[in-house]
Amino acid sequence: MRNASVTHAQFEQGPIRPPSEAYSLLLRVTRNCPWNRCEFCHIYKGQKFSLRTVDEVKKDIDIVHERVSEVKALSWELGMGGEITSSLVNEIFNNPDRYPEGFRSIILWLYAGGKTVFLQDANSLVLKTDDLVDVLKYVRERFPSIERITTYARAKTVAKKTVEELRDLGRLGLSRIHIGLETGYDRLLEYIQKGVTAKEHIEAGQKVKEAGISLSEYVMPGLGGKGMWREHATETAKVLNQIDPDFIRVRTLKVLRTMPLYQKIESGEFIPLTDDEIVMEERLLIQTLDGIHSTFASDHILNLLEEVEGRFPEDKEKMLAVIDRYLALPVREKANFRLGRRAGGYRSLDDLSNGELHSQVEKAMSRIESESPGGLDQAISDMMESFI
Ligand code: SF4
Repeated sequence: MRNASVTHAQFEQGPIRPPSEAYSLLLRVTRNCPWNRCEFCHIYKGQKFSLRTVDEVKKDIDIVHERVSEVKALSWELGMGGEITSSLVNEIFNNPDRYPEGFRSIILWLYAGGKTVFLQDANSLVLKTDDLVDVLKYVRERFPSIERITTYARAKTVAKKTVEELRDLGRLGLSRIHIGLETGYDRLLEYIQKGVTAKEHIEAGQKVKEAGISLSEYVMPGLGGKGMWREHATETAKVLNQIDPDFIRVRTLKVLRTMPLYQKIESGEFIPLTDDEIVMEERLLIQTLDGIHSTFASDHILNLLEEVEGRFPEDKEKMLAVIDRYLALPVREKANFRLGRRAGGYRSLDDLSNGELHSQVEKAMSRIESESPGGLDQAISDMMESFI
């Protein structure tokens, strides 16, 4: 009988990972977020933070190891010679009753090469360094071919580690840390209850760099709202200029009812920016970035201009040119692009010259306007909600 040897032991996985870790093995070393107060974040609200013991995590690693053996055995059984093929992926995805939950994430990980691991949840560096060292050693012992291990961390926590501790983690394979900078403007950091200052962000970022670990800093366009957008852009750029991270990744603000910031919108205290204003804010951010060598990435579906990507300093003008091209579009074309992008039709501004696609978006726009005059922004906003 097919998969007679499949076990049903489960390993834990948390809810999120960065877009760039979509095909990494997710290993949960803590549960939820030890801070959990950021006003723009709803992921862990109502969830209690807890550390997992090294033994618990090791048991999960053992289960993953066992699953990998089972997947390979299945491949032999189905005549695929132990290879991880698309047919094997289909077999597992098409038969959810036959293969327990963990199989799907394992097969996707293996199909993508099985070389990367992401440690969850929000702040793995809150673990004692010795415990993290044990976990990293065990991952590499069980999976010697792993090439990249990455994690999220809070700047406040990273700033408390010594460069030597971080260097040890780097030596054992922690190759990249993702930090949610969000903004470098102190007043705004306080307003959104990030629980960290610009100075601490700089200290944390510089330590990670000094330890030789790759650093990804996340910035949130739109976070300053109408009241603080200028300072948000310029002060964030100044912080990044002092860190010079390997990656700057943007993820545009979208406020859901489940986020504390929503109450401030309802009361009129926080006034969100329009799409065009966010693009202008992003322009100011990029314009103010200087003396860095970072790769700028817009790899999140919430960002309007996905093609604003490149490396500093050589691609700075190219990125600004994309923004200027969008800002120079006639009002109706901008609306067409915004709707087409959020509906998943457009990836870049060049797609506006795809006549068939353009006219489909135009028809959708006319329909929205006739059914609900002035309702285009709401329709776009609803689409964005479904991305989170
Ligand atoms: S630190 Fe990260 S996960 Fe925790 S509340 Fe803030 S944004 Fe959310």
